[in-house]
Amino acid sequence: MIKNQIQVIAFDADDTLWVNEPYFQEAELAFCQLLEAYLPAPDVSRELYKTEMKNLALYGYGVKGFMLCMIETLSRISNDKASIVLVNQVIELGQALLQQPINLLDGVEEVLKQLKSDFRLVVATKGDLLDQERKLKNSGLQSYFHHIEIMSDKLTGDYQKLLKHLDCKPEHFLMLGNSIKSDILPVLELGGYAAHIPYHITWAHEQLEDSLEHPNFMPLNTMTEIINILKN
Ligand SMILES: [Mg+2]
Repeated sequence: MIKNQIQVIAFDADDTLWVNEPYFQEAELAFCQLLEAYLPAPDVSRELYKTEMKNLALYGYGVKGFMLCMIETLSRISNDKASIVLVNQVIELGQALLQQPINLLDGVEEVLKQLKSDFRLVVATKGDLLDQERKLKNSGLQSYFHHIEIMSDKLTGDYQKLLKHLDCKPEHFLMLGNSIKSDILPVLELGGYAAHIPYHITWAHEQLEDSLEHPNFMPLNTMTEIINILKN
């Protein structure tokens, strides 16, 4: 029985604990509108994504890298002719992202409350260190967690490091998250358990089309379903 196995439960943060991707998409839409004089919005969007993928290994995930990618895309699309006024508007879009309010997703606090006494709860998230710390602090959820891990990436090796740090065997570890690619597959590969909680918007880079079947994989509709699996 899985409930007798699990000792540590790790939660992804963005679009698992709180709203994130819609804020990025709003910023991207505003960016596309700023560049309308140069290119139609879908083309700007495509160019931005190209820049993001080119720089991912250099910048990692998070708002600051996104800001630099917007500026680089603006420069390229405008043939280096864009005004500093426009550059400043792009910087403002990024800074607004760093000040978004925290909106918890449905059921999150209730689930943490119910699991806290029986399991070690941790956060395992990508993104900018300072920004993720700010979100966690403003979420009011900090006291539920035993450990916060802000990871540069979520590949198998990154989870291996986390498990070592937590002194937890994979078969005692359960990861919950909205990204099959980042939150589920690497954990299953290590022999851990993983529960997928879909979010209605997923960044293109995190999307995977294939359906997944694995004995340690739990596809859920909502986070609260994990309570029945672990407690009953
Ligand atoms: Mg996420």
